[in-house]
Amino acid sequence: MFIDTHAHLTAPEMLTDLEAIIERARAGGIEKIINVCTDEKSLRLGLDLARKVPWIYTAAAATPHDVSRIGTAFFASVEQEASRGTLIAIGETGLDYHYEHSERSDQQKHLLRYFDLAKRRALPLIFHCREAFGDLFSLADAHLGPWPAVLHCFTGSFKEAMQGVERGWYLSFSGILTFNKAEALREVAAHVPEDRLLLETDAPYLSPQKWRGARNEPAYLLDTACMLAEIKKKSLKELEQITRQNARSLFNF
Ligand SMILES: [Zn+2]
Repeated sequence: MFIDTHAHLTAPEMLTDLEAIIERARAGGIEKIINVCTDEKSLRLGLDLARKVPWIYTAAAATPHDVSRIGTAFFASVEQEASRGTLIAIGETGLDYHYEHSERSDQQKHLLRYFDLAKRRALPLIFHCREAFGDLFSLADAHLGPWPAVLHCFTGSFKEAMQGVERGWYLSFSGILTFNKAEALREVAAHVPEDRLLLETDAPYLSPQKWRGARNEPAYLLDTACMLAEIKKKSLKELEQITRQNARSLFNF
């Protein structure tokens, strides 16, 4: 069975039929889901959900988009939950210079706070990074040091992929890998060492090609898994074992 290492189960788009989504995930071969909570509401719902469903885990942080708006208040909640032991990872945190919904300096300030929290609570980090790899790597080198982390929904270049790998990080591939026009990304994935590979849906966003335009959900992870197996010239079974082992090493399930 597969592990969806990044889904937003308690985002508003998922709440109308969350129970059915979870049933379809199980029926579709999903063993565990990391539910990434990015604000107060999704975190409260996420903690409830994780109490009810033992194979759903909670990660939390404000996204780089939102830090200017909710960063300080939400950090306090994430810090509190991390100290209670309810979180499996800190994230998604990082830098997004493509949209720049929050000022770069604000994004960086919060990223450093999350570095510090992850270290204090011995939790891995989930990074969101878009058009900001130079700054992410240099801030991590200066303020984080060697630390378990994943570049979620990786869409960077081969060079950026290897800069992540050099730091011991994992690279997580989403439904983007199945997009017709994602030839360059498939080429990157082909060359990433297999002990760094993870799978995710990033549901409700980024549905695989077959479901493009529809809301994404964890059951659709299989499309991305099949594509990655083909790219890596592995059987689906082999890819399942590789990515499950990697997820277990990173998140200490
Ligand atoms: Zn996400």
